[in-house]
This record gives sequence, structure tokens and C-alpha cells, in this order.
Amino acid sequence: MKDFLYTANPARVIFGAGKLSSVREEVEAIGSSRALVLCTRQQRKQAEQVAELLGSRLAGIHDGAEMHVPIEGARKARKLAAKLEADCAVAIGGGSTIGLGKAIALEAPIPIIAIPTTYAGSEMTPVYGLTEAGLKKTGKDARVLPRSVIYDPDLTMSLPVGMSLVSGMNAIAHAAEGLYAKDGNPVMSLMAEEGIRALAEGMQTLVETPENKDARARCLYGAWLCGTVLGHVGMALHHKLCHTLGGSFNLPHAETHTIVLPHALAYNSPAAPEAMERIAAAIGAPDAPTGLHRMAAQLGVPTALRDLGVKETDLDRACEIALANPYWNPRKVEAAPLRDLLQRAWEGAEPQP
Ligand code: NAD
Repeated sequence: MKDFLYTANPARVIFGAGKLSSVREEVEAIGSSRALVLCTRQQRKQAEQVAELLGSRLAGIHDGAEMHVPIEGARKARKLAAKLEADCAVAIGGGSTIGLGKAIALEAPIPIIAIPTTYAGSEMTPVYGLTEAGLKKTGKDARVLPRSVIYDPDLTMSLPVGMSLVSGMNAIAHAAEGLYAKDGNPVMSLMAEEGIRALAEGMQTLVETPENKDARARCLYGAWLCGTVLGHVGMALHHKLCHTLGGSFNLPHAETHTIVLPHALAYNSPAAPEAMERIAAAIGAPDAPTGLHRMAAQLGVPTALRDLGVKETDLDRACEIALANPYWNPRKVEAAPLRDLLQRAWEGAEPQP
């Protein structure tokens, strides 16, 4: 057995259908009395529901959350939080909205209560991202880790099935890479395997019966586990590729993860056989990369980068960017096999080591 170091991030998780109703209690429990509710314009209604539950604990609603947290938007939200004398942020939404809460907490250290409505997992990590002049910078700071997280599957009923599925694959990617992380440990591996299992089962039911509440709850439970893994151990080639492709070619976050995952796992499979066995067991397939590729096709999610508008002529540049400042990876990252990986991901072909 491998040696390991295990340090847990503090976490308070309230999970269950209808648990949104506990938001005021959570604000009071952290000693706050003026909550700024954050959301995107599309989720304004859900934010208004939160505002109503908060009653006299509400400082205001800000519906300016945007993908990748542009610095201008972060500055605007910080100003508003100061003007309203907010002493906590309640972020209801996906990774973009929770990211905006983190951007505020980074400057004015107010606690965040996160109410995730996708499976991206940002609520369980001390990682933040900010985009300035087209460049996304990420960092790690304990102050941005949400103090309390409310997982209410009822709030995910409105997430369209297509978005739910790609978001679920995004979550699976965190757990899959967590299984071969350099700083992995047995507890995170348990969470990762169980997270993948819950999401794979939940998504397969969801695609047939989108109104199935139990499947929605199972997916959100899986998302919590996978997000926890993301918050505790380092990611490798897959996340590097998605970061590179997403940032350089302005691709949608969850879809990019969905397409790249089977190929990145195939690349790493010779160097991480135990992780592959655990992923395969969790999805009920004989082989992890091929199993995930087939699962994606069966779920009807995107499987080819060309369908996201990436041009074949962009692949050489993508490969070069991915090779610059590579993350730690279980298998050495080399130009020729990496270029082959990108070609297969672009075509939507079966993954190969
Ligand atoms: P998102 O937050 O950008 O949401 C996408 C769209 O879906 C938005 O319009 C949102 O309002 C809408 N939406 C979300 N939940 C909904 C629901 N239940 N019903 C209807 N509409 C809903 O997407 P995401 O995939 O959750 O987050 C992606 C962003 O999060 C990226 O910028 C990524 O880099 C970041 N992220 C950060 C971390 C971290 O640890 N810092 C982790 C994962 C993702």
C-alpha cells in the first residue's frame, strides 16, 4: 500500500429535497445578518425564492454572475457587497455563480453559503478562477471555500437533461483523475469511486425519466463526492487539456470535459491500472476509457471536439499549449501521443492508449 497524507477541508453539508428552506438558519448559524444573494440572470427566480426565505437577513440580490468570472463583473459585485454592507454571500447556481461568490470572498473576506444547482463541484473547493483580458487565472485560498453547502435536488429539476448529463460527466472527470492523483489517499479514492457510481447510475435513469427525483438526488450526491475529491487532490492531464482547450478556444466547460475524458483516461491507462479498474467497476464496464466513451454515446452527449467548432487546423496549437507548463501526470506527457489523443477527441473516435 502507498504512503499518504490526508488533510480534510472543513465542510458543512445539508443534503435533501426541500432543504433550501434551511437557508436562513444557515446564515444565522454563521453569525451573519446581511446576505447578498448571487445568481445568473437566468436563475433570478430561484434567487428571489432564496431572498424570500431570508426575510430580514437579506441585503440584496445580484444577478450578474457570468461564465469564467470576468474581472469587471467581480469588481462590480465586490462594490455592491460593500455598498450593501453584506456580511455573507449566498450563491445559488452553478460553478460560475459560486465563482463570483469566491471572487468577492477573496477581497472582502465574507463567508459563502453555496447552493449548487449543477454538478460542477466548485462549492467543495478552495479554488477560484478570474478572467482578465481574456486570460483565466486560477488560484487556491482557504477563504473562498464555502462555509456551508445546501444541496437541494429540487433545484436541479430545472436543469435541462442535456446540461445535467454534461455536468455529470464533468463531475466524473474530477473523481477519475482523483483516483490516480499524485497526492491521492484512500479516503478520496472511496469518495471518487462512489461518486462515479452514483452519477453513472443517476444519469442513466435521468436520460429516460428526467422527472425522476431520486435520480436527480443520486446525481447531486455523486456531484458532492466528486467535488470533494476535486477540492482535496491535484488534477492531471485531463484537467490541463480542458483548461487549455476551454481557455484558448473559448469552449463550453462541461462539454469539453465530457468529450476529452475517455481519451485522457486512455492515455493514462497504462500508468494507472488500479484507478482504471475502479472507474470500470463504478460504471459497470469491462474497461474504463471505452466504457465512458460508450456511456457518453448512449447518453447522447457530445463526443467530438469538432462538434464544438474546434477546427482540425487548431489541434497542433492545442497540443503545443497543453505541452507548455504541464501538470503532474502519471504517464509522461509527450507530443506525438498527445497529438493522437487530440485527433481522436476531435473526431469522436474510440479512445486508445
Ligand atoms: P454555469 O454555472 O456556468 O451554469 C451554466 C448555465 O446553467 C447558467 O446560465 C446557469 O444559470 C444555468 N443553470 C445552472 N443551474 C441551473 C438549474 N438548476 N436550472 C436551470 N439553469 C441552471 O455552469 P457550471 O458548469 O456549473 O460551471 C462552470 C464554471 O465553473 C466554469 O467557469 C468552471 O471553470 C467553474 N468551475 C470552478 C470550479 C472550482 O473549483 N473553482 C469547479 C468546477 C467548475
